[in-house]
Amino acid sequence: MTEPTQTQPPTDTPSAYGWCAWHQGHAHGVRLIEVQEQASGPGGNVFACRPCREAYDLVPFADRP
Ligand SMILES: [Zn+2]
Repeated sequence: MTEPTQTQPPTDTPSAYGWCAWHQGHAHGVRLIEVQEQASGPGGNVFACRPCREAYDLVPFADRP
């Protein structure tokens, strides 16, 4: 586990890294699925990774008509 001294900007990373709410873990390639508006609290944007999107037939928020 060596930390790189130089940080290279992501050149070819079309996928985002974040929390998948479906399998309860971090994953690459998460997409925003739902925007939950809440008056108080952390509220939430719900993300799902690609395997979960395929497994649960989820449509990304941005891809909806
Ligand atoms: Zn997932």
